[in-house]
Amino acid sequence: MSLKKILEECKIVSRKFDIPNAHTLEVALKHGAYNCLEKLFSTSQQDIIQEIKDSGLRGKGGGGGATGPRWANVHKHNPDKRPSYMVINADESEPGTFKDREIMQKDPHLLLEGIIVASYAIAAKKAYIYIRGEYAAFARRLNEAIAESYAKGILGEQIKDPYSGKIYDWSLDITVHRGAGAYICGEKTALLESLEGKRGQPRLKPKDKSEPEWFFGYPAMVNNVETVSTAPFIVKNGAGAYRAFGTEKSPGTLLVGMSGHINNGGIWEAPYGLSMIEFIEEIGGGIPQNRKLKAVIPGGSSCHVLTADEARQCHLDYESPWQFGSSLGTAGMIIMDETVNMMEAMKNLLEFYRHESCGQCTPCREGTGWTDRTMAKILKGQGTSQDVQIMQRASEAMNGKTICLFGPSVSAVIDSYTGKFADEFQSYIKKQKQNQEILDIAPPVF
Ligand code: SF4
Repeated sequence: MSLKKILEECKIVSRKFDIPNAHTLEVALKHGAYNCLEKLFSTSQQDIIQEIKDSGLRGKGGGGGATGPRWANVHKHNPDKRPSYMVINADESEPGTFKDREIMQKDPHLLLEGIIVASYAIAAKKAYIYIRGEYAAFARRLNEAIAESYAKGILGEQIKDPYSGKIYDWSLDITVHRGAGAYICGEKTALLESLEGKRGQPRLKPKDKSEPEWFFGYPAMVNNVETVSTAPFIVKNGAGAYRAFGTEKSPGTLLVGMSGHINNGGIWEAPYGLSMIEFIEEIGGGIPQNRKLKAVIPGGSSCHVLTADEARQCHLDYESPWQFGSSLGTAGMIIMDETVNMMEAMKNLLEFYRHESCGQCTPCREGTGWTDRTMAKILKGQGTSQDVQIMQRASEAMNGKTICLFGPSVSAVIDSYTGKFADEFQSYIKKQKQNQEILDIAPPVF
């Protein structure tokens, strides 16, 4: 079966993307929005969580952690005696990642339906959507969809079924909160700090991995937009229907993005496990002007870059990129062709990380500045091969010695670019040095 045919048959979150005006409640209801509510509210919270566990749903914001067990961890914290909170991470700031905004723009009611499912499962009656500040248009669209749902009784005191008119003994309020444009607020604990009105800086993590997050001292669940938007399908159709797509360890589908040097960039929903290179060639239409593929960043700039050979062997699932020291991340692929200067590409990322470091940890605060300055020196033709080693030592200092994964992400960039493209770095430095020597001995021109 051709890839295009496979993609046509696996639409879970993108089912309404091509329907005109599907963002309005009127059109969304004609196409089945909120039709999981009856089944949801006639099933116990524990059984909903079990269904999500059985489906193998994994977080689609980059981490890929199992969703069901995380819901269970929040639910077990005394849901009847104190409040818990549902928080949606819509702070989509990872370079090359632009999938969540597709959902918010084209099918915001799917996200709201997913939030109702997740909030019921973890026993939360208040949910927040934390959206990046730059997404003003998408925040507006969400607020319009929320207002429509309140008007129809789907949100607020005692949720009303939009089809049967049945009243369910469950209430939910949803608030959209716009961030102020800091990349680090996509890290879930920094996001919660920011939502609490404090400076958006990551928290120290507890040793016990089963601890939930805390919001104003109450248990909270932070989930990505796409993850939560997948939940209504699982509730309606069962875990088996979701597992019918993808691979055993990476079941289901995900939104795959392509940008950079590609003929046909954009977002497609695909089952996990497809060949990366076939996706680039068949769905993306290959590289412009028949140039050669040089490298691929699989899913956000913090993943180790893949060489063209590695990309040819990779599949779009969580396990395959590990063999090359990388990860699937958000599946927002950045494609680079043979014209890309890898030193310039790395400098571009280092500048970004230097700007976005929150500054709490010395290795990250100093390391990002130090490596960015060193890379600038190399690009100016004043670098030596020792400079590459200095950057690698700074990378070592940032890896695993910081409060959050931002530091290790910078290390991933430095290690993979200077390691996998070491020859290019060395020949560039050598060539720049020779040019400098020629300039030094050239007679003055009058
Ligand atoms: Fe902040 Fe960097 Fe430390 Fe993360 S690793 S807490 S971004 S200084």
